Amino acid sequence: MYHPEGNTGLSADNMKEQRRFNQEFYDSKAWKKVSRLYMASRNYVCERCGGVAVICHHKQYLTPANINNPDITLSFDNLECLCKDCHNKEHFMKNNKAVLDENGNMIGVKESAAMQDYRQAVKSLERITGKEDEQ
Ligand SMILES: [Zn+2]
Ligand SMILES: [Zn+2]
Repeated sequence: MYHPEGNTGLSADNMKEQRRFNQEFYDSKAWKKVSRLYMASRNYVCERCGGVAVICHHKQYLTPANINNPDITLSFDNLECLCKDCHNKEHFMKNNKAVLDENGNMIGVKESAAMQDYRQAVKSLERITGKEDEQ
C-alpha cells in the first residue's frame, strides 16, 4: 500500500542517487534562470516572515520520481522564496532526527535527505548570486 506521508523507504544507495540527481538539477541553466526570476518576482522577500529571502524552496520536495517533471521542478506554483531561518525550519523541523546518547542527551542531528537537498540549494544559490556570467 502507498503511504504518501510516511517513510519514503529509500535505501542509502537510493538517497545517494537522489542527491546526485538533485545536484545535476541545481546546476542546470533552467533552474538557475527560473529560481532567479522567481526570487526577483518576490523582491527577495521571505514569503513566511518578510525577512530577506536567500533561497528558492520547492514546496513539493524533489525526488527521483519528479526531478524530470518541470511542472514540479520549474513551476512558480511549487516555489517559495524563503529566508535562511524559515527554510532551515522547513527542512530541519520536519525531517531531521535528534541523535541521543544512552542517557537521552542530544549529541547531534542526523540529517535527512531533505536537509542535504537544502544544503545543495544554498550552495547553488550562492553560485547564482555570486557571479553574473550568464548570456
Ligand atoms: Zn523567513
Ligand atoms: Zn527547500
